[in-house]
Amino acid sequence: MKNIAIDGPAGAGKSTAAKIVAKQLGILYLDTGAMYRAIGLKALKLGINTRDISAVEAILPSTSVEIKYVDEVQNIFLDGENVTPFIREHSVSMAASDVSAIPSVRLKLVELQREIAKNNDCILDGRDIGTYVLPDANYKFFITATAEERANRRFKELQEKGQSVSYDDVLTDIVTRDKNDSTRAFAPLKKADDAYEFDTTTMSIDEVVAELLNRIK
Ligand code: C5P
Repeated sequence: MKNIAIDGPAGAGKSTAAKIVAKQLGILYLDTGAMYRAIGLKALKLGINTRDISAVEAILPSTSVEIKYVDEVQNIFLDGENVTPFIREHSVSMAASDVSAIPSVRLKLVELQREIAKNNDCILDGRDIGTYVLPDANYKFFITATAEERANRRFKELQEKGQSVSYDDVLTDIVTRDKNDSTRAFAPLKKADDAYEFDTTTMSIDEVVAELLNRIK
């Protein structure tokens, strides 16, 4: 199977570009962040402190995370319920970052990611795809942008969805998540040595897609 890994911090343009590239290449797109968001959402729903390792670990055995494609769009099911509409909420982002630092959470989700990658040609976006999940991926990318530009993009996206958050809160969230994600001990956000890195700060989505396709072809 052919696998393409795209890693980088939140808001760098990974998911928007990866979706388009997947469509153009006729392969699957897997948003791995959605899985961490689902576990974060469950912890929030249960009123668990998302930084409390043993409390989060305690819910894992009874937690099921499944990915299903409906009209080629990824839907995520948490304990049998389609939670796709809820995982993008602002409050879920930090919860996802917190639970993603817990090794047993990662191991559970990485197993699912590898299974999907083994059975499908696909493009995966995340933080540790090129370094940990699929070190032998056919193509690896690491894309970045300034924190301000990434916050701008996220802010617009949330506004379009009618969520009321301030730009400053989005920026703080992005900077905190960057720090959390890149300093955690297990499978941190990091460029793989053999990944092709580029900065999307001044690029349009079309340009990002063209850059990716150019390298892949
Ligand atoms: O990509 P997205 O912003 O939806 O990811 C939410 C959070 O999930 C990230 O901030 C990160 O902490 C975590 N994540 C991760 N590894 C991945 C994908 C996401 O740790 N492969």
